[in-house]
Amino acid sequence: MQDLLLKLCYLIGSVTFIVGLKMLSHPDTAKKGNLVAAFGMTIAIIGTLFLYYTGDLSDKIINLIWIFIALIIGTIMGTVAAKKVQMTAMPQMVSLFNGMGGACAAIISIVEFKHLMHEGSADLNNLTAMTILVGLVIGTVSFFGSMIAFGKLNGNINDKTLPMQQVVNIGLMAFIVILIVCIMTGMIASPVILFYVLLGVAALYGVLFVMPIGGADMPVVISLLNSFTGVAAACGGFLYGNPVMLTGGILVGSAGTILTILMCKAMNRSLTNVIVGAFGGNKAGGAAQEVGGAYKEISLSDTAVLMAYSKKVVIVPGYGLAVAQAQHICHELEKVLEEKEVDVKYAIHPVAGRMPGHMNVLLAEADVPYEKLLEMEEINPEFAQTDVVLILGANDVVNPAAKNDPASPIYGMPILEVENATHVIVNKRSMKPGYAGIENALFYQPKTSMLFGDAKKVLQDLVSELKGM
Ligand code: NDP
Repeated sequence: MQDLLLKLCYLIGSVTFIVGLKMLSHPDTAKKGNLVAAFGMTIAIIGTLFLYYTGDLSDKIINLIWIFIALIIGTIMGTVAAKKVQMTAMPQMVSLFNGMGGACAAIISIVEFKHLMHEGSADLNNLTAMTILVGLVIGTVSFFGSMIAFGKLNGNINDKTLPMQQVVNIGLMAFIVILIVCIMTGMIASPVILFYVLLGVAALYGVLFVMPIGGADMPVVISLLNSFTGVAAACGGFLYGNPVMLTGGILVGSAGTILTILMCKAMNRSLTNVIVGAFGGNKAGGAAQEVGGAYKEISLSDTAVLMAYSKKVVIVPGYGLAVAQAQHICHELEKVLEEKEVDVKYAIHPVAGRMPGHMNVLLAEADVPYEKLLEMEEINPEFAQTDVVLILGANDVVNPAAKNDPASPIYGMPILEVENATHVIVNKRSMKPGYAGIENALFYQPKTSMLFGDAKKVLQDLVSELKGM
């Protein structure tokens, strides 16, 4: 009976994960999807806690006490962190949580390796040992890689490339494979020492593979690390014969892998390059093209007039819009313009912001209708028929260096081709560069006018100006 109930809990967990994931694919259902999957996870956890263990009752009670202490600490920390986090720090938090998943998977491998060794069987040439070792490597790489990604997104760590970075990374990967073979075949006497060497090498690879990633390439690495955590968790599920952990891990692993492939495609990068840490543009090896000259500014009232008398306006949201928390007033601007019979759309670049889907989440929070958000491939042909493009806190995603400067770190990344519109208005606070740290020639083009100021304040003033017209 207990076994049947446990299986039922796992079935509910697995089905709700799949349904929840499906619901996450559309903004209208995403919030509910998250709750559905969380409900399934709660059922699976309760089932595991109370129905899984069939051994000695006093052991079970002691274990449950420890588990509940950890659950309470984790719940308090997670809830406080999620409630307190600023919207702008969300990407860092996602990286941190992803890293925790990787660490859990690695710890499972460490514990299970100890069990295996205690069983006294010297034979490690089996599927269980292989799963433990693979889980250890992937979980450790995911943890250390995510911590470096956290530091980079938080602005604490700069991009650093070692001399011969590719060779070092390939060497480390080869060393990992050799260590796994040695442990499994018993070629070298002490598997325990080799196991910890493997842990150290995987940690080093995790750090070195994310360290040089910069410019426009972080999104790909973030989704790759996400898929690593899923695969590592699936290894844990396999070890324990736990179907819900296996399903969850496989879902995260495959969704993360699909996202990584989509991101690679969107960024025009190759997956092999991500894994060996040789990334970005600058394949020409030279210095980036000089950008500069005079730029012109536009006043609020001129911007309002230009937009009010346009037929079509495209808004390009970027990281600065999230920083300014100007999504609600941006939606207000869109409504005011539509009352004046202006057709308004949003151009969504796949890596705008600091996490995959950042702009979709931000604008959905302000109830911007999903049909108004057009992906890069859909909107690019429309710029030629657009009167005004209003860029709100975006920079790298509209930087023409991606198309015409082979020495640029974002070279090769497809961008929003805003320069095809009649007028381009850029709102940001200064002439400072964006995430990739490079100048933007778009700001100096004759069609472009700069509208300086914090996005929220500028949009509030623009909306009042338009309402008064
Ligand atoms: P960028 O980081 O290129 O530019 C953002 C711009 O916003 C800055 O130039 C800044 O200029 C401006 N800004 C900041 N605060 C405000 C404010 N309060 N009001 C108005 N403007 C403001 O952003 P993009 O969205 O164009 O590009 C995203 C970049 O982040 C890409 O390089 C991408 O690769 C990278 N990235 C993306 C991830 C993802 O998954 N989406 C993950 C990690 C990195 P100023 O200071 O002058 O105001």
